[in-house]
Amino acid sequence: MVTEIQRNALVSAARQAREHAYAPYSNYAVGSAILLEDGQIVTGVNVENASYGLSICAERTAVFKAVAAGARRILGVAVCTLNGGTPCGACRQVMAEFTTEDVPVLICDEQGNVRETSLYSLLPEHFGPGHLV
Ligand SMILES: [Zn+2]
Repeated sequence: MVTEIQRNALVSAARQAREHAYAPYSNYAVGSAILLEDGQIVTGVNVENASYGLSICAERTAVFKAVAAGARRILGVAVCTLNGGTPCGACRQVMAEFTTEDVPVLICDEQGNVRETSLYSLLPEHFGPGHLV
């Protein structure tokens, strides 16, 4: 259960993180924030590279940071972009790896609009660890 306070904190963290995005090629800055089981919020930004294929999205940056610190479960996500863009397919799959049930995904834009969807709505019938029996 993600509280309203946690939702607001996620959005705020994603919005602040976005300021550190490294997106000199696309100019599409993205900030993300994920809520962990212990209540901690971990942020990420997109990090582009002159060799374009090496770029990584904000959501995966946040997930990998959290996993590297020992986390294994995501309870909620916020993503902030210019215009309310949603997580790409790769990030949806990576986030689903670390959920055991559907989690809220808060999509926000530069104007301050926030809309809520969920990870399993964005990625129905996702492939998961349960398929590898
Ligand atoms: Zn992505």
